[in-house]
Amino acid sequence: MAIQRPKGTQDHLPDGSPKLSLDTRAAAFQHVQDTARQVLTRAGAQFITTPVFEEADLVKRGVGGSTDIVRKEMFTVYYFGDHGGFILRPEGTAGIVRAYLQNGLKQLPAPLKLWTHGPMFRAENVQKGRLRQFHQVDYEVLGSTDPLVDAEAILLMVEVVKALGLTGVRVKLGSIGDPADRDTYNAYLRDLFGTHVERLSDDSKDRLERNPMRILDSKSAGDQVLIAELGVKPMLDFLGNDAREHFQAVQKYLDAWDVAYDVDPSIVRGLDYYRRTAWELHHEGVGAKSALGGGGRYDGLAEQLGGPLVPGIGWAFGIERLLLAMEAEGLDIPGLGGPLLYVVALDDEFVGHAATVAITARRVARAEFAYRAVKPGNAFRDAERRGVRLVALIGSDEAQQNVLSIKNLATGVQTTVATHELNAFLSEQLEHTGSAVAPNSAVAQENA
Ligand code: AMP
Repeated sequence: MAIQRPKGTQDHLPDGSPKLSLDTRAAAFQHVQDTARQVLTRAGAQFITTPVFEEADLVKRGVGGSTDIVRKEMFTVYYFGDHGGFILRPEGTAGIVRAYLQNGLKQLPAPLKLWTHGPMFRAENVQKGRLRQFHQVDYEVLGSTDPLVDAEAILLMVEVVKALGLTGVRVKLGSIGDPADRDTYNAYLRDLFGTHVERLSDDSKDRLERNPMRILDSKSAGDQVLIAELGVKPMLDFLGNDAREHFQAVQKYLDAWDVAYDVDPSIVRGLDYYRRTAWELHHEGVGAKSALGGGGRYDGLAEQLGGPLVPGIGWAFGIERLLLAMEAEGLDIPGLGGPLLYVVALDDEFVGHAATVAITARRVARAEFAYRAVKPGNAFRDAERRGVRLVALIGSDEAQQNVLSIKNLATGVQTTVATHELNAFLSEQLEHTGSAVAPNSAVAQENA
């Protein structure tokens, strides 16, 4: 058998491929990116890209040494003469904050809104919706602690998902307070779990030392039983005044904008640099345990990376999970369809001319050409299969008179058009029938 792709990765394929599902359909994948671009660009976010591999230290500090991601799921990059000090990024935030600090983006007006999309890598146990290379859309805002920024970030995440047509999405909203609040909470958890150490999983025994809050996040069934038995109080009960006011302000804005959410005390982000607002986006189609996306405020991250204090907040969702949710809701994405024009030479000597005509027509519309001479009957059959609207034939008469015989496959009407008037003719056709096949329709939408 020919070489296969690595486990936990996917190919994104063209329409018409056998066994295509929404999450492996390249057009669907692009549609999510385009939709995010449209929603986020209108909100003032600018696109940024950062490398897919970064210094190991950035990933360790950015994601946290106590997390499963750093302890078990990192892909290390080796190359000749190198010590393996690079990691394939498991998420986007650390790289973006690094780029912000390294490139002096602090000089740009704050709050600075950035967005990106791209592949992320985690060596996880592969299952449905859990891949080793997956793709995220990321939104990050740097330079503000205002709760209005938090509320807007949540709103935008919901707007992207709504623009895709999804309805069964719930926001679970929480707050993890300020560092002092978390110290109090961790002391409480240490006392509580400290009397039941023998029942904790090995990972959680370790967490009890380093970061007790992460026990609440444990994937071990035994740990979760213990948590339920002990009736552990939520972090929300431990918020100080500042964090509580911030949390209330976020909710006030969301209420004003009719963004539905459930306050969920179980939302925990155990890392030191997280502050205050944290949330997850859930959907039944992806399973209760797996989130569609998540976000949170990370005011301590820039300092953690060795920079100055730069407050920040961001979210990410997985494109593959979004597509699974869309599939579960029976949503589909229209295909690109065929080109407006298909130019066919009836004789070998006119194939080059047919190509030139199609290439010129691309200034106004999507146009393709046949790479070999075809008989008229076959040309129409071929064009129909490709979903073409107009077929232009070039035989010796047309070539001599410098015209095109154009047949509209929808109406059956045949016209003769002078070659130099083709683009005006096509523009007129587009005006009459809408511009769905105009080039750069994504860009056109964005500017609308
Ligand atoms: P996280 O950075 O862990 O908060 O993940 C944010 C989002 O990325 C999740 O809600 C998922 O939608 C997506 N995601 C995370 N890990 C994976 C994975 N292994 N496979 C597919 N999607 C993932």
